[in-house]
Amino acid sequence: MLITCPYCGPRDLAEFTYQGDANRVRPDPASTDHEAWYDYVYQRANPVGDHKEYWQHSGGCRSHIVVVRNTMTHAVGSVGFAREHEERKSAARHKSGEKA
Ligand SMILES: [Zn+2]
Repeated sequence: MLITCPYCGPRDLAEFTYQGDANRVRPDPASTDHEAWYDYVYQRANPVGDHKEYWQHSGGCRSHIVVVRNTMTHAVGSVGFAREHEERKSAARHKSGEKA
C-alpha cells in the first residue's frame, strides 16, 4: 500500500504509523461527563468502506496526516495535513455553537 504524503509524495506504508480514528471528537476538557469520556477513550467504530484516519510519516518528514482509506480494499482516497483537518473540525464546532 502506498500513501502519498502531501510533503514527500508517494511512499510505502512501512514509513507510516497509524495514529487512530480521525472522526472522533474530544469532549470539552473541563467536562466531567463520564459517559462522553468513556465513549471517546474506549468506544471504536468498525466501519466498512471509506474511513478517515490519522497517520504519521514517522519514517520520513514526521508530518501528521489524515488519510481516507477504504477498509475493504485499502485504497487511499485522499490525504491531507492533520492540522488543516483539525482547523476545519474546529471551525465546524464553532459554527454549530459548541466549545472548541
Ligand atoms: Zn512526508
